[in-house]
Amino acid sequence: MKRVYMDANATTPLLPEVMEAMRPYWMEHFGNASSIHLDGQQAHTAVDHARSVLAEFFNCHDAEVVFNSGGTEGDNTAIFGLLHPGDHFITTSIEHSAILQAANRMAQHGVETTFVAPSASGLIDPTDILRAIRPETRLISMMLANNETGVLQPVEEVGKIAANTGVFFHIDAVQGAGKVKFDVRRFGCHLCSISAHKMHGPKGIGAMFVRRGTPIEALLVGGSHERRQRAGTENVPGIVGLAKAAELAMHSLEDGTISRLAKLRDRLEAGILALPGTGLNGANSIDCHPERAQRVEGPASSLSEDKMGAPGASHLGTWESTNPVPRVANTTNIWFNNLEGEALVIALDLKGVAVSGGSACHSGATEPSHVLMAMGLDKARARASLRLSLLKTVTDADVDYVLKVVPEAVEHLRAISPVAAGTLG
Ligand code: PLP
Repeated sequence: MKRVYMDANATTPLLPEVMEAMRPYWMEHFGNASSIHLDGQQAHTAVDHARSVLAEFFNCHDAEVVFNSGGTEGDNTAIFGLLHPGDHFITTSIEHSAILQAANRMAQHGVETTFVAPSASGLIDPTDILRAIRPETRLISMMLANNETGVLQPVEEVGKIAANTGVFFHIDAVQGAGKVKFDVRRFGCHLCSISAHKMHGPKGIGAMFVRRGTPIEALLVGGSHERRQRAGTENVPGIVGLAKAAELAMHSLEDGTISRLAKLRDRLEAGILALPGTGLNGANSIDCHPERAQRVEGPASSLSEDKMGAPGASHLGTWESTNPVPRVANTTNIWFNNLEGEALVIALDLKGVAVSGGSACHSGATEPSHVLMAMGLDKARARASLRLSLLKTVTDADVDYVLKVVPEAVEHLRAISPVAAGTLG
């Protein structure tokens, strides 16, 4: 049976070039990058080169790149490394659990957190962040792109607010990295976390931009690796793989890959939305929470410009209730009336299509998505939502196949669904 993987926001496969770049560092050049002999120096040179590639990716100095184990570690480091008892922390209610759970833990250590809610379209209003700032606010953390809806958040505006108010700013860029143009100077952040496995690199490796002079305490202590900012023998093959993935991601932003991806996503989305009883989450979803949508006013910015390369471009004053909000090119999130989302995920899997019914990091959990709930969806609709996230290698034939099996599965499930029949309480 044909298999089509449309769960790229959960993880992605290595690109062949990434695999080839890593290959020598498992057996041939296996040295410890801290050793002074030739084997160690070969590893050290590879790590140095990777650091330069990541510095180009972030647009920062080599010394501002810290390799770590991925997005969770970066998110945790920002929070545990900067906040002290008595500090106030601002984040959003649509963050990944690596942020939300770390904030919850800090509550036990005398750090109060304000969770800013999104609009019905899944967009955070920067003025809500500004309003939440207090004299004791030390850190703001916000994601670049949401993992469930793909909605791009106004990081540049928040960067300006952080600069004007003297608050540290961390960006969880795990889902935006490699999908939109990236520049930590433009974003105005002090810290920025990325993860290789979301951009066709290996799992268990990531990097963090740490702006020079940011007084962050290391999460892991021991050896003097990573300028004492992250102890532990360097994962050399992983670091080399991350650098190759970052290099390829930079090219793909220039070579038309992203616009091709956006076209395929749009075709997929339009095809599914043509089914009765469906709608988009993370766009013009005024029907689910009109009060929130009305909070923002003004002319809209262009979807195509925003989603291709200008995350955070002037969202202030966007009239989101009548215009699309900016999203990354590979993601769509769609609700279906009168069926169970879990059942649809399983039915599609049996037909060879891998998608997610919620955040990938929670797959298997039965709770409705906290992101969709924060956007104002009711529990039933949040549960009956599907996230389709496309790999950069997706083909027209993949989209054709999904557009064939989704209507069949939906029709079948609706025919047998206790939700549709109204027999479910
Ligand atoms: N942040 C976001 C937005 C994510 O989507 C994820 C993973 O899904 C993470 C952080 C955690 O990243 P990692 O899997 O590298 O720990």
